[in-house]
Amino acid sequence: MNLSDSVTEIKGIGDKTAAIFSKVGVVTVDDLIHYYPRNYKLYEQPVPVSSLTEGDRAAVFCRIVSGVAVSRGRRYTIVTLSAADDSGSVKMLWYNMPFLRNVLHKGESFVFVGTIRVKGASRVMEMPEYYTQFNYQKMLSTMQPVYPLVSGLTNNMVTKSMRTVAPLINRSEDWVRPELIERFGLIPLSKAMYTVHFPENKEELGKALERLAFDEFLHFILDVRKMKETNVKLVNSHVLTSEALSRIDGFVAGLGFKLTDGQKNAVDDIMNDMRLEHVMSRLIQGDVGSGKTVVAAAALYMNAVSGYQGALMVPTEVLAQQHFKELTRIFTPYKIKVGLLTGSLSAKERRLVYERLRNGEIDIVVGTHALITDSVEYKDLGLVITDEQHRFGVKQREKLGLKGNAPHVLIMSATPIPRTLAIILYADLDISVIKELPAGRKKIKNCVVGTDYRPSAYRFIQSEVRAGHQAYVICPMVEESETVDAENVVNYTDELSRELGYGIRVEYLHGRMKEQEKADIMNRFIAHEIDVLVSTTVIEVGINNPNATVMMIENAERFGLAQLHQLRGRVGRGDAQSYCIFINVKKTDDSMARLKVLEESNDGFYIASEDLKLRGPGEFFGIRQSGDMDFRVADIYRHVDILRMAQEAALEM
Ligand code: ADP
Ligand code: MG
Repeated sequence: MNLSDSVTEIKGIGDKTAAIFSKVGVVTVDDLIHYYPRNYKLYEQPVPVSSLTEGDRAAVFCRIVSGVAVSRGRRYTIVTLSAADDSGSVKMLWYNMPFLRNVLHKGESFVFVGTIRVKGASRVMEMPEYYTQFNYQKMLSTMQPVYPLVSGLTNNMVTKSMRTVAPLINRSEDWVRPELIERFGLIPLSKAMYTVHFPENKEELGKALERLAFDEFLHFILDVRKMKETNVKLVNSHVLTSEALSRIDGFVAGLGFKLTDGQKNAVDDIMNDMRLEHVMSRLIQGDVGSGKTVVAAAALYMNAVSGYQGALMVPTEVLAQQHFKELTRIFTPYKIKVGLLTGSLSAKERRLVYERLRNGEIDIVVGTHALITDSVEYKDLGLVITDEQHRFGVKQREKLGLKGNAPHVLIMSATPIPRTLAIILYADLDISVIKELPAGRKKIKNCVVGTDYRPSAYRFIQSEVRAGHQAYVICPMVEESETVDAENVVNYTDELSRELGYGIRVEYLHGRMKEQEKADIMNRFIAHEIDVLVSTTVIEVGINNPNATVMMIENAERFGLAQLHQLRGRVGRGDAQSYCIFINVKKTDDSMARLKVLEESNDGFYIASEDLKLRGPGEFFGIRQSGDMDFRVADIYRHVDILRMAQEAALEM
């Protein structure tokens, strides 16, 4: 077997399984070994039931003291039982696992591993794993990788396949010179790759993640540098025409609001770049809500008036549709044609868009990854903009570059990186920063509260909806399984709908829905056909509904501060006063202190730096931060030292 072989070469993977793997981007053996866990489960000594508090993940050794009850709900079957040790009792609950009735029996003892919920005086473990004491003993102190999954793909399938290809991992070569690796005290790449899938202990895993973070930074820095170097050399064959320059003021005046100084400067910077001798490579950095979309629109306008095509790439279907609508609205009066190209188009629709791009009928195309597949050809692509996805911008540019005749590149980001780090990461890229929010925005009012505040929060949402506004509710997370999360969103929505009462339209969004379904819901929310949107974090990136004034986040303690800041950025986008309610379910001092930072400040830079100070070293992958810095292992805030190493290495390579 070779790294470039299809996964179907792996024993046990047939066409059907391969099709499931391809959904997560795993097509070759090489893809598989780069499919990293998103977390690890630790199996530690069982603890007494009475010592458990809300949100703990732990093992308990209990005897089943009740019968095993199976009840059939509307959407799923629930299995429950009561278990106890000397210190207290706990209820166990599973969704859609009716067969457990035949596996677990009254009087037997098991080790149950799961996350505890405290509901009044009783404790519940949802979806616990269960082991005989003998089997658990064998697992004690091992670390089990938890892979990101989609429907049809189980953790077991990934683990098993990974074991089969493990010998290949050790054979892969290091691309960084040994003396550099040694100087920085890093481990070889093959060892790191192996360890990330099969860690022996936390220390070893830590070293492996360091090495992988180093590589991610290094790739990124080298990519940015390569892009810049190429662009600096490439002659600008898409020079803005004098017509474009003379009409841009009129375009901006027609937007319906006055640009902020930051927006104006960014537009000026772009205008200057696109007139010069060489191709532009610029990063626009601005906090959520700072108004980056209109800056992109201005650039696309100048480019289109000059007679060139433009492409705007975004990470999700939902965002693509939103931008498409917005740009269509802006550009229709100018007779500039906007097109949409995403994965969910039918083959026929797609072919039509391809054709219209080839013959130049479409001036501006908005889309997802679909924009860079091989079948897309442009008549004369002059400008490529990526929104909310840095790496996408840098890495895929090359491919797009081949399609166009050296297009200009604009990258838009809301990730608040301190300037010192931005300089390292973006090397020589030109940067425009939009510092301020549009005038007239009221400061978002924040509150951090416990679960007992929920009823008041619901009343508040009711009153905002009656006043004509809308609300987002980020649903509590259950176990680390998409299936359960999805069901949970559905249940929560039912409950919330009942709480809010007749006449308030509540709908939900979750990760297992089809892209098109998600986009439909989102469009209806933006069109105000929905009042309250319950969602997992899929709405995090870029969505703009200025009429939404409330953001309520359940389990706020489970998110990184920067991510919470992004979520909060979905409100406060219009003139009305907006509110963010953080529900702190696990009320520890730590979580309170962290969330208080959000209460104090609405400044992304400040929040990111405070988060860094307050974050414990415990988490393997850190808490996932904002959407657009899509490093898988590296964390710009936490791995500052490693970033500097990568910078040094990049200079020597
Ligand atoms: P982001 O930077 O997060 O991408 P958007 O571009 O989505 O922000 O803009 C957020 C909202 O602010 C949009 O509704 C947009 O129309 C509005 N907006 C942008 N610039 C201004 C401005 N200068 N004055 C008033 N509103 C603005
Ligand atoms: Mg945006």
